[in-house]
Amino acid sequence: AQERYGSIRDTPCVSADGVPISLMMNAGLMADLPSLEDSGAEGVGLFRTELQFLIRNQMPRRTELADLYTRVLDAAKGKRVIFRTLDIGSDKVLPYMKTLDEPNPALGWRAIRVALDRPGVMRMQLQALVRAANGRPLTIMFPFIAQYEEYARAREEVDKVLARERKLGHAVPEQLEVGTMLETPSLAYASKRFFEEVEFLSIGGNDLKQFFFAADRENELVRRRYDTLNVSFLSFIGDIVARCESTNTPLSFCGEDAGRPIEALCLAAIGLRSLSMRPASVGPVKSLLMRYSLKEVRDVIEEAKLRGEQSVRQSVMDYLRDNA
Ligand code: PEP
Ligand code: MG
Repeated sequence: AQERYGSIRDTPCVSADGVPISLMMNAGLMADLPSLEDSGAEGVGLFRTELQFLIRNQMPRRTELADLYTRVLDAAKGKRVIFRTLDIGSDKVLPYMKTLDEPNPALGWRAIRVALDRPGVMRMQLQALVRAANGRPLTIMFPFIAQYEEYARAREEVDKVLARERKLGHAVPEQLEVGTMLETPSLAYASKRFFEEVEFLSIGGNDLKQFFFAADRENELVRRRYDTLNVSFLSFIGDIVARCESTNTPLSFCGEDAGRPIEALCLAAIGLRSLSMRPASVGPVKSLLMRYSLKEVRDVIEEAKLRGEQSVRQSVMDYLRDNA
């Protein structure tokens, strides 16, 4: 599939009506990095650091992590890599960490909640990231932030690690960006202060959709029941876009839907300017985005909403077919 899109690999993604969209890729292991060049992605929009923890049978050491992150940054050759701190719990269980028997793990003690309650691992990870960057630009993202205070406390951990590293005589990143995932509806309605302070946001569509529709992303009986192009969900995403525009907060969308061409086109049409997806999706998504006008797709979406359609999918597909 990658060859099919080879001719547009190095072409920047611009919609037919001239809107540039940044296409990034998701990764989690060193083995994913060669795809950065092959796919034509502009950077790694989501590096899931938990994969490295999940494939082992004991907690990795700081030096091992620093070594891995160094290799990731080297392989990225200056392209941006957004490292997401450990996102465990729910569907991702570490074999060597004691787990609780939780009735609703997706709503339970996971991700940043674990990190803030037991900060040792996150501190080690942050330190490994700072050492790996060794003065180079560094981007850190926290998973599953549901309210301002969690972001503020996580941010404090970063500042503490930076101060300590400086004291130890290590280089600290010349350019550091700290952002969070937006995966719970609550964060979309956080105070303006949060949107002003956070340096960027990335919508984790997999989790956000699960909580928006109250439908378990792992449960076959319900996971396909609600269309991402359902008007309620698109309106919700549109509200997040508007909030971020009002505070100039950079916003992107990672999560599987960003890699589905029609979904990606609709997300761009409602205002997303950055999408992060599995590498094999970059070509197909770029190819579709370049052929259509976002303004026209936006009009199709608005008209479908006005007609009372539950999902805009059929209307958008009809439009794409009629304007191919
Ligand atoms: C998401 O929730 O959309 C996301 C990107 O994170 P993960 O799939 O790793 O939970
Ligand atoms: Mg998630």
